Amino acid sequence: MVPVRASRRNVSWPLAFREVVRGRLLILLLAGLFVTSSCVARVSVVPQRDELAPASLADAPAPQPTPRAAPPPRLLIATRFPYVAQPEWLPTRTNYDEGRGGAAVNWIVLHYTDISYARTLKAFSIPASNVSAHYVVRGDGHIGQVVGEADTAWHAGNYWFNQRSIGIELELDHITNPFFTAEQYYAAAALACAISARQGVPLDRTHVVGHNEVPGSNHSDPGPTWDWPHFMYLTSLCAPPTAATVHASFVSESAFPSVAENESASISIELRNTGGTAWRKGTDQEARLGVRDNSADLAFLADGWPTPDRPAVQTEEIVPPGATATFTFAVKSELPGTYVLPLRGVVDGGAWMDDMGLYAKVTVRKGMSGRKGALE
Ligand SMILES: [Zn+2]
Repeated sequence: MVPVRASRRNVSWPLAFREVVRGRLLILLLAGLFVTSSCVARVSVVPQRDELAPASLADAPAPQPTPRAAPPPRLLIATRFPYVAQPEWLPTRTNYDEGRGGAAVNWIVLHYTDISYARTLKAFSIPASNVSAHYVVRGDGHIGQVVGEADTAWHAGNYWFNQRSIGIELELDHITNPFFTAEQYYAAAALACAISARQGVPLDRTHVVGHNEVPGSNHSDPGPTWDWPHFMYLTSLCAPPTAATVHASFVSESAFPSVAENESASISIELRNTGGTAWRKGTDQEARLGVRDNSADLAFLADGWPTPDRPAVQTEEIVPPGATATFTFAVKSELPGTYVLPLRGVVDGGAWMDDMGLYAKVTVRKGMSGRKGALE
């Protein structure tokens, strides 16, 4: 160590400086490479020779602290949710009944498997097991469909309930999938939304239940580790909006504007989502501020409205149940007068929101436009 330092002292400063700079650049480059590739590398980390070298080697370099130990992510591509569930059709030839005895589907029942996905599928094909479910959600979010929705699967331990429900098994197994995964929540929620759209099952905790909640059940699944609020939040993001799920209450409105002819004024209204489905901008679940009864009579007040009878859409990307949405729009008129614009929230892909007598009063004053023009 010491001799190296001594020899370095003899090197002229500019050269030493250049060496240092080059060294630092190399370190920076290496650091940059590590940072940019670590997200991917973490998945395929293989121990280096140095890390495997016996500790007894005196001149072996001191072991470096290993990178933060993070479990490898299951998916390299971030899940964009909501998505459309795409089950793999893996029909069983036993353990179900054709049809539902004339009953309509009214519930979705969640279970966990307690064995691996593969063993679950096997069990459903063995008559002696006497069990089946419509769907099985693997730990990585893959969905297998074993029984058609029109048929009765044997999952709830209550035949009357089986005829009126769809069973979803979530893989939970001490080896293959010891904990519910994010992918399972997404997949099960996407599946529940698809079932809701097909069968009209409302996505609330009355109609989406655990096996433990089936009358007469002595089962405990999906158990205390299943995060019901998170799951129901996810279903609210993809649930089809209907008259039953589209609701709102009033939060606030900006002061009624008084403007000169041709002067623009901004109006903001806040509504709380008191329904069961999230409002999502740019989708069938988008919340809009509509003119009551779709009237276009006051469309001459429009200043940049999306359409003559829809002054505004929600500002926020996602407004889950319980959250507040802001609707901001501008009005302008060349005709002096006082106008009352009757408003009502609407999800055009679903239903009108509650009519709460919402309105905006706009006063357009005469003879001010000239002065304002002069200021500009
Ligand atoms: Zn169960």
